[in-house]
Amino acid sequence: MKKEEFRNALKPITDGLFGKQRTSVYERPHFDVRPIEDMMNDLAEIDPVEWYSYAFSREPLNGKFNEEQRKEWMEKSLACGREYAQKVCEKYQTRDPKKLAQAMGMDISFPEFPEKTDRVLFAEYRVPNKICIYMDAVKKGEKLFDRPGISNLLTEGLDISRLLLAHELFHHVEEQYHHEIFTKTEKVRLWSLGFLRNDSNVIAFSEIAAMGFAQEIMGITYSPYIMDVFLVYGYSPEEASGLYEEMMVCAGRTPRTA
Ligand SMILES: [Zn+2]
Repeated sequence: MKKEEFRNALKPITDGLFGKQRTSVYERPHFDVRPIEDMMNDLAEIDPVEWYSYAFSREPLNGKFNEEQRKEWMEKSLACGREYAQKVCEKYQTRDPKKLAQAMGMDISFPEFPEKTDRVLFAEYRVPNKICIYMDAVKKGEKLFDRPGISNLLTEGLDISRLLLAHELFHHVEEQYHHEIFTKTEKVRLWSLGFLRNDSNVIAFSEIAAMGFAQEIMGITYSPYIMDVFLVYGYSPEEASGLYEEMMVCAGRTPRTA
């Protein structure tokens, strides 16, 4: 994928940084652009558990769930991610995502852009053991560290590629522990008829847990979901502002005026 293609493919930021589940038809909206430091400030104050509406807004089965279920699953999925972060850090005796990945036998690469244009992601995991971190987005994000207040806010010296790696690493951990891990064993019943039933995994559980896992490993207080806005800003401040508005509203807060 070339730079131009990547930029175009990014326009429907329908997926967010880690997701790829939204199905609605995208119309290009217009949003008032806010300074990135203001948006990050607001978003960093949202407690990780409070992200449940946003987290489930990208879930294809979301319409089948109620508020109470979303909240409960949010807590359980986050706890699951944190628990497995402690588990693997203990097992491999390191909190460094790169060392963890090596110890787990992962094949990690750092290309500039994704190969295919049909899926826009900043990082991805492929079974059995491949993780790609797309560096163009990371570098654009790193440039924003020069802006006043950003570096302080995001924790001094936050390593974006390590954060992305930590998130993707969880998806591998999930595969390894699929018989017992909450995100794989907890299913929802789509339908049942006599002895027949159809149960499904819920993608949102995995994504939420991956965020909890990454947060725990990186030792940050805010939810890694805020990096959606941060990394998109490097490509389109307007799209990032739209995403910010959506996140704020989902968390029951009023987006600040531009
Ligand atoms: Zn993910």
